[in-house]
Amino acid sequence: MGTELLFYRLLIILAGILSLFLSLFSYWKLKNAPGARQYMFVTFLSAIFTFLYALELSATTLREIKFWLGLEYVVMPFIPAFILLMCLDYIGIKLRQRYFFILFSIPLVTAFMHHTNELHHLYYTSVGLLESAPFPIIQLEYGPFFYVHSLYLFLCLAISIILLLLQLKKSIFRFRIQLLTMVAGLFVPILANSFYLNDLSPYGIDLGPVSMSISFILHGVALFSFQMFSVVPIARERVFDNMLEGVIVLNHKGVIIDYNQAIYRILPWLNASSIGKGINSVLSHSESLIELISHGKECVYECVEGTLTEHYQVRFSELVNKKGFKIGTIISFVNITDRVEMQRRLSELANYDGLTKLYNRRYFMDQTIAALESLFAQKGNAALIMFDIDHFKMINDTYGHVAGDIVLCEVANLAKNSLGPQDLIARYGGEEFIILLRGRTMDGAVELADSIRKEISESLIHLHDHRIQVTASFGISPIEVTSLDQTEAFKEALRYADQALYMAKDNGRNNVQIHKEQLQMA
Ligand code: GH3
Ligand code: MG
Ligand code: MG
Repeated sequence: MGTELLFYRLLIILAGILSLFLSLFSYWKLKNAPGARQYMFVTFLSAIFTFLYALELSATTLREIKFWLGLEYVVMPFIPAFILLMCLDYIGIKLRQRYFFILFSIPLVTAFMHHTNELHHLYYTSVGLLESAPFPIIQLEYGPFFYVHSLYLFLCLAISIILLLLQLKKSIFRFRIQLLTMVAGLFVPILANSFYLNDLSPYGIDLGPVSMSISFILHGVALFSFQMFSVVPIARERVFDNMLEGVIVLNHKGVIIDYNQAIYRILPWLNASSIGKGINSVLSHSESLIELISHGKECVYECVEGTLTEHYQVRFSELVNKKGFKIGTIISFVNITDRVEMQRRLSELANYDGLTKLYNRRYFMDQTIAALESLFAQKGNAALIMFDIDHFKMINDTYGHVAGDIVLCEVANLAKNSLGPQDLIARYGGEEFIILLRGRTMDGAVELADSIRKEISESLIHLHDHRIQVTASFGISPIEVTSLDQTEAFKEALRYADQALYMAKDNGRNNVQIHKEQLQMA
């Protein structure tokens, strides 16, 4: 008989020590972590309650027992409130002041009703010693307010469980274990309480304090081993899902383990059932993606959807375990469309002449060599026209440099508007322009050059208060696209067109000349 009671007392003292240890541990190690403050309070209250209960079990008279029971009711009614607050904080819910007040008003009423029971007998209808017990233990008949407290305890635990389970749906696998451990922890006191209330516990000893310590161990396991205090899983998931970067996680066998919302834009074939499947089978629609992922090297992926093309920088980072073995890969897709577009625009700008908006000399030369190469393969023909504004220096000298610029732009536009889609025009330098013609006969080239010359000479250019007319001289040379070195062919044609242009100048300006040797050849 004595050993049995000693065993229960010892068990309860151990439970108290455990709660106290968990409380101190959370105080030293987890002071500022979310949920930790509530955990610290609830384990501390539980430790005090448990020690008081151990003292109750050591008492020899009903008076002593009632004294310790009275003290227990100073702390015990508040424990469910702190459990609920811990779970709320864990999943990131802040309680409004109103609910906070309601949450704590019920334990206050419970404590008050318990202490004034002698006056109304609404908490216990009768209080006596259990006659069948081999040691002094209290026997209680419960009044309505006792059941209010029981319901309150049950509701706090049930709400905590429901909220954790709701969170479970939104969570990914690794945090589900954590949440379920928390839930399991909440079921322990419910079970213990139902044992106690149904008179199934030995001699009516309340093993609630022991069950609470067990439940706090489970909470502790959930919190500590999964390091929930250092990184709140829900917050972490939210960050993962709200990232602009699309992320997909594969294990070492290429099986999809996890992915975030942003990845749907890049891999629309993914869905919840893709988890656990091989990446290649999920991406079977896109061979280019399969190849890119199997390559595993940083690269740019172009995602075309209708008329829209998005560019993604694809990065691979290895996941390694503590022993240094590769256990998976994180693949991230960063949208770099803006950067690519900006680069494209910048390089485009670099190809233009700032004043006339025609191509510049460098771009013209690159394009011409490339065009000649494909013309060589097709055995096509090409010609160069060079033209230079006559007496341009005089325009500058007479009307000023700004007026000269206007003339340059006007002439550039007139020439450009006379060309076909196959022709390429550029500002060669100063007041000199160059045109590449493709697929035109020499007669056609002369005809075009002359029509541009005529257009320029007949146009009136508006300069603030004046209207002036300018002329230009033209030199033409066919390009020998039969030679193998297209750069050489181009340079030669350039030389001949320049010579022809000087002939035109010598010839009195405002006329078109073909290089003599080239004319014979043509
Ligand atoms: P020609 O009929 O023999 O070609 O005589 P020209 O006066 O046209 O030729 P010249 O080479 O003597 O003068 C060209 C002038 O073009 C000199 C230069 O100051 C001017 N020029 C070159 N680039 C620009 C420019 O971007 N804007 C203006 N306004 N003038 C320019
Ligand atoms: Mg000139
Ligand atoms: Mg010149």
